[in-house]
Amino acid sequence: MDRELILDVRAVSYRYPETARDALAGVSLVARAGEVHAVLGPNGSGKTTLLRVALGLARPATGSAAILGQPAAAWSRRDLARIVGVVPQREDHLFPQRVRETVLLGRYPYLSVWGAERPEDQAAVDRALARCDVSSLATRWIWTLSGGEYQRVRLARALAQEPKLLVLDEPTASLDVRHEMELFELVRALADQDGLAVVLITHHVNLAARFADRVLLLADGRTAGDGAPADVLTRETVERVFAWPVSIASFDGRPQMIPLRKQEEHS
Ligand code: ADP
Ligand code: MG
Repeated sequence: MDRELILDVRAVSYRYPETARDALAGVSLVARAGEVHAVLGPNGSGKTTLLRVALGLARPATGSAAILGQPAAAWSRRDLARIVGVVPQREDHLFPQRVRETVLLGRYPYLSVWGAERPEDQAAVDRALARCDVSSLATRWIWTLSGGEYQRVRLARALAQEPKLLVLDEPTASLDVRHEMELFELVRALADQDGLAVVLITHHVNLAARFADRVLLLADGRTAGDGAPADVLTRETVERVFAWPVSIASFDGRPQMIPLRKQEEHS
């Protein structure tokens, strides 16, 4: 039986107003329940723009973006928030907040207009805190958290929405190896155990190759590769897209990139 089709982005193109070239041209991304998709590519290659189009925040000039069979832009934001949990690249915390209050914000698409939270909202918050191993931080102020704790709390807020699709934009930027591995392991487990579809933007080519089912490699808004990590992350492709010489090794059946020093180029 085919897994549920969650995100269906087909051949989208998008150009920001008053710019000379397409930020996206003919890019597709199809994600089903239980799959982890990594989106890779140099800075400015269109990764965040692809997410914006996928979530209906930017309307593609050509192509289509659908979530659960309905055009992404046609969803009310509130209904969409019950299906898609997003951990954005950056955000500002304007209000002093404790961890539990922050995660409870993930319940807003379920709350009544009066905003009173019900026992099931509290239960969803507790589950999300536990899943992300931040229950013990519940009463801490957000600004007292370490980078790794903060990212897990933001993921918990997205999980409190009880989404079918989880979208993360560079969630492990500036985390140390343990914290980045913990986050990738957790994301993988959410796909394997909870059946979430995951779209993850990252600059960690090697972790993407280890954890993702498929990688989408973008270059200048175009698809430079799309498929299983070993099929996409070849030396030729990676060198061309990132404009740097590399060697590709294999670990656990997955490609691993080793960037070369300048004098090693001809080895
Ligand atoms: P990435 O996330 O891969 O770094 P983006 O999707 O943010 O790339 O950007 C893709 C391209 O679109 C870049 O050339 C960027 O400068 C341009 N771009 C992004 N946002 C805007 C905007 N609001 N207005 C004009 N151009 C933009
Ligand atoms: Mg980006």
